[in-house]
Amino acid sequence: MKVQDHFKASNGETLISFEILPPLKGGKIQSIFDTLDPLMEFNPPFIDVTYHREEYIYKKRESGYYEKVEMRKRPGTVGICAAIMHRYGVDAVPHLICGGFSVEETEDALIDLKFLGIDNVLVLRGDARKFEGKFIPESNGHAYALDLVNQVKKMNDGFYLDNTLTNAEPSDFCIGVAGYPEKHFEAPNFQSDLYFLKEKIKAGAEYIVTQMFFDNNAYFDFVKKCRNAGINVPIVPGLKPITKKYQLNSIPRLFHLDIPKDLSSALIKAKDSEARTQVGIEWTVAQSKELKEAGVPCLHYYTMGDAPTIKQIAGQIF
Ligand code: FAD
Repeated sequence: MKVQDHFKASNGETLISFEILPPLKGGKIQSIFDTLDPLMEFNPPFIDVTYHREEYIYKKRESGYYEKVEMRKRPGTVGICAAIMHRYGVDAVPHLICGGFSVEETEDALIDLKFLGIDNVLVLRGDARKFEGKFIPESNGHAYALDLVNQVKKMNDGFYLDNTLTNAEPSDFCIGVAGYPEKHFEAPNFQSDLYFLKEKIKAGAEYIVTQMFFDNNAYFDFVKKCRNAGINVPIVPGLKPITKKYQLNSIPRLFHLDIPKDLSSALIKAKDSEARTQVGIEWTVAQSKELKEAGVPCLHYYTMGDAPTIKQIAGQIF
């Protein structure tokens, strides 16, 4: 079932969903089940699985020289989606990125998803590779998520890359895209970011999932600006608890957002890791309650390998 249909079927009730990461290469599928088994009591109608592009790493050889090697640290997104649907009977939403894909490879990936009965994709550009200063698309790949939305939409309309195909079966993907309450870090200004977000919706995206935020006003403001700009699709808030001191620096560095002073002070003052976890849980619970009261379509939790914390939060909301 499509994410958009889950929203329609909810009759205004706030849904819950989770985002998980594939395990590091060599890891077990059981680690995914260990993350999700305890969360299934909350009946998420869909679960997102992130996609991780190949990276360059430097391996030291016997000679002492370093060799630049390309590797994908977290493969398995599509397989995990199929495993989730098979084990739990819930919809899986694979993330699909531009980075590392030619348009032909994207088309083949979409065909795999279609054959697996996967109805949803969260369409993203992806970030720059480590050690590359900026995002570089493949020579025959997409530079922006908008271009990828266009490709999925075309396939939904029955147009494949090979225009000599006759009777090609259209796909029927529900397309989600990312939105940034505190602006995407590369956008010159908020208006420009909003303009391109609207282009993604005009091209066929049916809902937005936000980057994490720690001040609900950022989300409420974002929704207001989207509505004023004529973006009327569901906007799903993405939430992540901060439970570690180092995250006060790593999260702003990685995700380009602000952490409210009250939250950072409470984490700094907390006497040990248990107390810090409690601070993070209480903050996210308060955020979740306010968002749910405001009638958001869904609370989307970034599990990032910490299912027990997410379970404690969800247990106080659902
Ligand atoms: P885009 O929508 O392409 O936007 C990128 C930048 O370009 C923005 O500044 C935008 O304003 C600008 N822009 C957009 N279109 C145009 C245009 N036509 N011309 C000029 N400028 C334009 N990354 C992963 O690698 N894997 C994941 O699984 C993943 N999951 C994510 C899930 C969520 C909910 C979010 C919020 C992010 C996720 N990311 C993931 C990170 C994401 O790939 C990065 O934030 C990336 O830098 C931007 O992706 P985007 O889809 O928002 O890009």
